[in-house]
Amino acid sequence: MQKKRAVALQQEWGGKPCDHPAFAREYDLGARTGNFICTQCGKTVTFREKAEIVGARPPEDTAE
Ligand SMILES: [Zn+2]
Repeated sequence: MQKKRAVALQQEWGGKPCDHPAFAREYDLGARTGNFICTQCGKTVTFREKAEIVGARPPEDTAE
């Protein structure tokens, strides 16, 4: 996701609480920044922050 898009998302989201259900790689002018963006609220997190957020979740039920 482009950084510009993330800023627009943040404005649309309006600072509400978010549990960051999904992340996309952050791009700036076509280059990867190494950071990730929450696709719901537009928050930018580092790789490490993303790992902590994802790792803090209970394991998903993979039974089908
Ligand atoms: Zn979020």
